Amino acid sequence: MAAVPAHTEHSAELFARASTVTPGGVNSPVRAFRAVGGVPRFMASGDGCHMTDVDGNRYLDLVSSWGPLLLGHAHPEVIAAVQAAVGRGTSYGTPTETEVLLGEEIVARTPVDKVRLVSSGTEATMSALRLARGFTGRAKIIKFAGCYHGHVDALLAQAGSGVLTLGIPGTPGVTEATTADTIVLPYNDQAAVTAAFSEYGDQIAAVITEASPGNMGVVPPRDNFNAFLARICTENGALFISDEVMTGFRITRSGWYGVDGVRPDLMTFGKVMGGGFPAAAFGGRADVMSHLAPEGSVYQAGTLSGNPIATTAGLTTLRLATDEVYAKLDETSLTIQRLVSTALDKEGVPHVISAAGNLFSVFFVESSEGPAEIRDFAGANAQVLPRFTAFFHAMLDAGVYLPPSAFEAWFVSAAIDDDALAELESALAPAAAAAAAV
Ligand code: PMP
Repeated sequence: MAAVPAHTEHSAELFARASTVTPGGVNSPVRAFRAVGGVPRFMASGDGCHMTDVDGNRYLDLVSSWGPLLLGHAHPEVIAAVQAAVGRGTSYGTPTETEVLLGEEIVARTPVDKVRLVSSGTEATMSALRLARGFTGRAKIIKFAGCYHGHVDALLAQAGSGVLTLGIPGTPGVTEATTADTIVLPYNDQAAVTAAFSEYGDQIAAVITEASPGNMGVVPPRDNFNAFLARICTENGALFISDEVMTGFRITRSGWYGVDGVRPDLMTFGKVMGGGFPAAAFGGRADVMSHLAPEGSVYQAGTLSGNPIATTAGLTTLRLATDEVYAKLDETSLTIQRLVSTALDKEGVPHVISAAGNLFSVFFVESSEGPAEIRDFAGANAQVLPRFTAFFHAMLDAGVYLPPSAFEAWFVSAAIDDDALAELESALAPAAAAAAAV
């Protein structure tokens, strides 16, 4: 089936209206297509692995709401559970049984002893940092360039010019005082971490890292990086915080922990555990978590935390996410990676497919002699961005919705079937040619 450029009149009109009432026309920046240009598509519905926009264009969805939709759109059992829950009321401001069940499910799947529910990944990492600082009585934190942990002020920091300079604000509105206690280091760089601990060891409250980064594109940990981080934290009385907002309950039933088995002191979760609703969590060692209010003195709270609809969607999703589902996701992801590579190779487009379990991204590199693997943010930044843009738009025109940025992971869902893979394969040929033409 030949690709027909989509009609976008209704999306364009909504985008114009949205831009008059909302900055940039969107409620989260990457949705605006700034990196790739063109009209952001306003979606009207989703079913399985497809979404349909307001102009009636149908897309194979490889974003999955940026991760949450492990089972695809409108999974019948999730929808039925949510509809039943909505009928009983939407929020009580009291504890509920579903929160207990979701908490038990998370504790059963991961190494955390206790968990606190919140409403976004940002809240989870922000609260985990506060708890780590409250628990250790220390101020400084280490994060890695290219890792994203939500829009927490202290984590919107960029590396200074030297390896051991303290973080500088990554956006106007974050003060220097706020990032003065944030040390930003290159990812996968054990020597940099060792140097930071020798300089500031007794002041470091925590190291926070994505369990396997997906926010600079997929850049997995190398040489047991997480085990190294856990060890150096323990040796120095700091806490190791593993951010599994993206990887949690997606890569395996217990997230990236199910791959490398490194036990963090604190973990953060989001996305899949909310089943497409706002739910997230942080958890960890019982002795650390007991410092949280009302048991301890570190304050943290939320009007809609543990919301009954969100926890119902999350619990239902997790109960359906069996080992067979994860095996299928792995297989689907590998098939897609192979199809992409074959299409790009056929057109002679140099690329690196970087994968971590079923998460992967495609880096368009300068030449086929280029790096065999992407290790850090500097590596991710060496992409040929115009090639990604051409590829992205050709895929979109052919009905495949990819993340509208070269610095994002592709998210598969269990709803992707053989027909969808065939759709993808026919879209890839013109898209690879478009990338080659740049
Ligand atoms: N941590 C990671 C690893 C993430 O990928 C994200 C969001 N992409 C967040 C934290 C922030 O989550 P949220 O957008 O729900 O605030």
